[in-house]
Amino acid sequence: MHEYAVVDELISSLVPRLETIPGRVTAVFVRKGELRILSAHALESAFEFLAKGTRLEGARLEIEDVAAIVRCAACGYEGPPCRFGDADDHFAIPILSCPRCGGSVTATAGRELCVERVAVADDGVAGGAAEPADP
Ligand SMILES: [Zn+2]
Repeated sequence: MHEYAVVDELISSLVPRLETIPGRVTAVFVRKGELRILSAHALESAFEFLAKGTRLEGARLEIEDVAAIVRCAACGYEGPPCRFGDADDHFAIPILSCPRCGGSVTATAGRELCVERVAVADDGVAGGAAEPADP
């Protein structure tokens, strides 16, 4: 499944960056562009499966959808692209053409799948440097 490859890559790039960060990773927040045709459910189950045995085991995957934004070089339009199918259709696929003039457009947002941040719980294993954080 495509989602497995994507999550596998995400985990292998994330794990080395967490090496210097103590604590338990509780959640991974990712931004998923709507032009990436990936199932959120499949991403979550792939994450759960592939995170086993890594620092990310037990963390939950939080997916934030990012709307596609396109820019038209011909008329200067910038905004959401044309959509194929009903706007209410959950699986409407954006088409990369300009809704104003029909010209070809380039996507300025909506293709990303990136880790935005991770939530780390300090379970008291940070090692003496912890300061009391009274609210
Ligand atoms: Zn245009």
